[in-house]
Amino acid sequence: MFDKILIANRGEIALRVIRACREMGIATVAVHSTADSDAMHVRMADESVCIGPPPSSQSYLSFPAILSACEITGAQAIHPGYGFLSENAAFVQAVEDHGLTFIGPSADHIRIMGDKITAKETARNLGIPVVPGSDGGVAEVAQAFEVAGRIGYPVIVKATAGGGGRGMKVARNSAELEIALRTARAEAKAAFGNDEVYIEKYLTTPRHVEIQVFGDGRGNAVHLGERDCSLQRRHQKVLEEAPGPVITAEERARIGRISAEAVARINYIGAGTIEYLYENGEFYFIEMNTRLQVEHPVTEAIFGVDLVREQIRVAAGLPMSFTQEDLVIRGHAIEVRINAEKIPSFAPCPGTVTQFHAPGGLGVRMDSAIYAGYRIPPYYDSLIAKLVVHGRDRPEALARLGRALSELVVDGIDTTIPLFHALIGEEAIQQGDYNIHWLETWLRDHLGG
Ligand code: ADP
Repeated sequence: MFDKILIANRGEIALRVIRACREMGIATVAVHSTADSDAMHVRMADESVCIGPPPSSQSYLSFPAILSACEITGAQAIHPGYGFLSENAAFVQAVEDHGLTFIGPSADHIRIMGDKITAKETARNLGIPVVPGSDGGVAEVAQAFEVAGRIGYPVIVKATAGGGGRGMKVARNSAELEIALRTARAEAKAAFGNDEVYIEKYLTTPRHVEIQVFGDGRGNAVHLGERDCSLQRRHQKVLEEAPGPVITAEERARIGRISAEAVARINYIGAGTIEYLYENGEFYFIEMNTRLQVEHPVTEAIFGVDLVREQIRVAAGLPMSFTQEDLVIRGHAIEVRINAEKIPSFAPCPGTVTQFHAPGGLGVRMDSAIYAGYRIPPYYDSLIAKLVVHGRDRPEALARLGRALSELVVDGIDTTIPLFHALIGEEAIQQGDYNIHWLETWLRDHLGG
């Protein structure tokens, strides 16, 4: 086992990893930019190293800065959290070249699930059902019309290099498709420096249902059921729950087995998530995330396992501590993402937190790196806390969420907390009866946003 791990991240996820390390008796090194000198992850780690100025390109994304921090502190492994360098194959290669261990999959695993076209091709080859669409990139209008003619409208034009919900355009007919192709390519070029786009069938009322998988790197893999992340705004997740409100045990077993077998075939190591759209009883692959997800705590709650601990174990060459048979679902869990954003515009609003009180009690988990007096820097993601509740069933989890939200105090800044107070009383939320468009419609009707 490692003696010391460096966490190449910040915020709540850095804390999450530090907590797992401490329970395992592993020393931790935090890295931080000059904007984060007062950050909680710096205070909680055993050691810390300043790795550069505020812009992440010069700090949290800097290979030399992070590798030097390992060298100086004697850390043997790097946990990347999510975002930043977590899915950067070149970084993984650099870590390995320096004789260090990357806590996550190999550079090759990241590459084959990297851009969206490659990922789709990999998925198809591994027996995973995919959304019908073009075989690879589409550059010409005639080719786009041919694909749309084959799969039928509506279609969605997506950037090969896309991410973070950006670079997607829906077209309902050929006139719209011609425009969508042009605008999607221009936007993809501007956002990702790559104008390649592809086309797939646009599913009109799907749910976003993703499967958590875990591999030991030696051909063994398990699945930890699904998370329903259909509550989205601008293709970004807002609330996640596990198990999915509409997924049956048979559906879970089937898609779970397909997903676990696929990653076992490539000797996948560590945590991964295969994202699907689910409509009329069918699952369609959209992408795989080769890292820990923001919403992993809902899975941890219902299975009672520590996914970060498990990531560290397999990275150190140990076997997984559970088998598929050990993984039994207990109850229901819900996570809400609390962002420093102003409603209804959802514009980020960094500032100083004047008061902070975290909820507690049975079945409540608060993953957050804020504290009273903390000044949220304007340079990074607006996620400031994840409130996760667990109950014996979905109604109990919802009641607990309402109760926990009523205890939570974050003063001094605008947050998305009022959104959840309002959502929890909605019949569709109470019934679990929503798809990926529900929240956008609700926001338009209730906030005019
Ligand atoms: P990103 O990597 O930018 O997050 P994804 O491919 O994961 O993009 O898609 C994000 C979201 O966009 C999905 O959860 C879903 O809401 C929507 N989406 C993507 N592809 C389709 C599709 N074929 N039909 C309908 N909605 C889609």
